[in-house]
Amino acid sequence: MPAGRSSRRARPIRVAIVGGGCAAVSTAFELTRPEHEGRYEVTLYQLGWRLGGKGASGRGAHGRIEEHGLHVWMGWYENAFRLMRECYTELTGDADAWQRAFLPTSRIGVTDRTADGSWSPWIRDFPPAPGLPGDPIGAPARADVRDYARRTIALLRSLLDGLRFRVEPRATTGSAPTSSAAALAILDGLVAYGETATLAAVSQAALSLEVLLGRSGERSTDPSLLRFVEALAAHTRRLLQTRLDRDPEQQRIWHIAELALATLRGYVTSGLLSNPRGFDAIDDLDCREWLRRNGASEAALDCGYLRGLYDLGFAYENGDPARPSVSAAQAVRGFLRAFFTYRGAFFWKMRGGMGDVVFAPFYEVLRRRGVRFRFFHRLTKVGIGRRDGAHVSSLDFDVQAALRAGRRTYDPFVAVRGLPCWPSEPRWEQLKDGTRWRRERRDFECHWDQRREGRIQLRVGRDFDLVVLGIGLGAVPFTCRELIATDARWAAMVEHVKTVPTQALQLWLRPSMPALGWTAGPITLSGFVEPFDTWADMSHVLALEDRTPEPGSLAYFCSVLPDEAHREDSSVPRRRHAEVGENAARFVARDLPVLWPDAVDARGRWRRGTVVDRYWRANVNPSDRYTLSLPGTARHRISPLDRTYDNLTLCGDWTDSGFNSGCVEAAVMSGRLAAHAIAERPALDEIVGYDHP
Ligand SMILES: Cc1cc2nc3c(=O)[nH]c(=O)nc-3n(C[C@H](O)[C@H](O)[C@H](O)COP(=O)(O)OP(=O)(O)OC[C@H]3O[C@@H](n4cnc5c(N)ncnc54)[C@H](O)[C@@H]3O)c2cc1C
Repeated sequence: MPAGRSSRRARPIRVAIVGGGCAAVSTAFELTRPEHEGRYEVTLYQLGWRLGGKGASGRGAHGRIEEHGLHVWMGWYENAFRLMRECYTELTGDADAWQRAFLPTSRIGVTDRTADGSWSPWIRDFPPAPGLPGDPIGAPARADVRDYARRTIALLRSLLDGLRFRVEPRATTGSAPTSSAAALAILDGLVAYGETATLAAVSQAALSLEVLLGRSGERSTDPSLLRFVEALAAHTRRLLQTRLDRDPEQQRIWHIAELALATLRGYVTSGLLSNPRGFDAIDDLDCREWLRRNGASEAALDCGYLRGLYDLGFAYENGDPARPSVSAAQAVRGFLRAFFTYRGAFFWKMRGGMGDVVFAPFYEVLRRRGVRFRFFHRLTKVGIGRRDGAHVSSLDFDVQAALRAGRRTYDPFVAVRGLPCWPSEPRWEQLKDGTRWRRERRDFECHWDQRREGRIQLRVGRDFDLVVLGIGLGAVPFTCRELIATDARWAAMVEHVKTVPTQALQLWLRPSMPALGWTAGPITLSGFVEPFDTWADMSHVLALEDRTPEPGSLAYFCSVLPDEAHREDSSVPRRRHAEVGENAARFVARDLPVLWPDAVDARGRWRRGTVVDRYWRANVNPSDRYTLSLPGTARHRISPLDRTYDNLTLCGDWTDSGFNSGCVEAAVMSGRLAAHAIAERPALDEIVGYDHP
């Protein structure tokens, strides 16, 4: 038998982790906790010169932060914040240090088309929620669909209460219903007031539903429960119809209320309240389709809020804005977690580049703990052995660069304003022939640039015992050919779990945001126009850059990028980069003045000198492609807990992690699961959300 996870030995178990994104770094962090007393000797292999993967950033000219793409963390990222906080505490000795790295933000915007074809932003503040993400969670941490249903009702009630044209409530029965049928009778009684029925009465009726759901004996598919939800929706719609036509602002609130009502109906029609599969029972349907089947109107399905949900998840098949698609299971899970479980603030923005705020501290802590980093190692092949059980027998790497004579390790950071930061290019001066390679523009992160210094093969038993595969899903077909050719599950996974390219744009601007005409304060806004549907004001990071005079504002934009068939043609990255440049120019000239009216003069021309600098990128490298959660694909994901291969575990946002979505939290959950698969720690119930429905 190969030296697998089950073997007991006196010497440390050698773990080869391939990849340095959120997932792989989390596994390394878990396996090297002091509690393990050095049981795992971790070596991390990473192509190119930096950690971060899809979350990488670098420092370019003037110390400017160049992101892979706009990243915000959400207030429900319990696992990600927990590890991040522990990392900062270990690094600085200060348990509050992480709060200087993350900025709580509660303002979120979506945009809707107006009758005259323009765009109108809608801005809301999410109230601060008790606690902070990553704080210890007292038992019970487990939520079930019934809990979420209750919270959906609470949301619905607050939306209805928020509709400002309501009149004073009339009397209601006041007493809680004892069955669905009784609740239906109460509802009928309430709406029997006809013209005088009020939204407050409907809201009161929604409360009855909460009482019903709370009754443990109630069958989740009870037809009268369904009739109750349907009656609630129908009565509310009838009550509001004429008023909404006159008030677009209230219409927006109603659209969200409609989506909440459709979700409630869906809980019942899809039997989610009692289905042991939880939300996965609706994985085969697209989210919009599921909501449509449950009564949401076309207007609600096209509202800015729902478009924003798709935009934030790059949820477009083949990157085609005309083909929105996301699993209803994952979308519902996502928005319930986002709305109802955040702590502190809804969003947390990093106070610097993601590389500097997240991956530099992890690198420092892991290095102190003895993790060995092998930069400039590109995995090319995972070799599988079958004797004594299926296992990884070898790992082949291209060694992309060698160190200059006399250097033993690569020192990856540059200092900007005294902070250790990842540069946007390798530190050429540390590399053998670095000057020449720089001249030749070697790009170690580029899939199409395969130039190398040499090759190595690591062998099981001799060089490693266990493997953690933490590369992006897009890179799996290029490195795991043997697995895909011989294992139907791997073949199905790479066929069905899809990825898309993305595009990102950053603009440094001389005026402040108010001077550009944006007066609503720092914002994260989505549901805007293609080619850049999502915008975040990131002006707060300017102080960490090195520009004089400091620009007045900084904006990041992001979107999906239409896909094309993979080609091994070295012109691909250049061509796609140019394409994003053209998209950016068009977007700035044509679309941005809608948000920033004072950026242009009376004739719609940009005022001279407004844009100080711009940076854009096309994220087309296979590993950099964003992982989608398309309908019907969850079953094809493989779990980090899978034991098919004796010494192999996986991690990444593409695995079955309990939150099957392309986000930092899913990647960290997956990384923690991989550590559990190896070391039985963390315990599964410590991985917050893993056991959520
Ligand atoms: C543009 C964009 C914006 C996003 N915005 C957000 C956001 O706002 N909030 C959020 O939560 N999530 C966001 N995400 C998703 C988030 O970035 C990912 O879910 C997360 O970073 C995935 O981490 P990972 O470790 O699974 O994979 P990755 O980050 O892809 O890590 C894979 C690692 O493997 C390395 N690697 C690949 N191939 C090889 C090889 N052959 N040899 C050696 N190493 C290799 C890579 O270099 C990388 O280090 C965004 C993603 C994109 C693309």
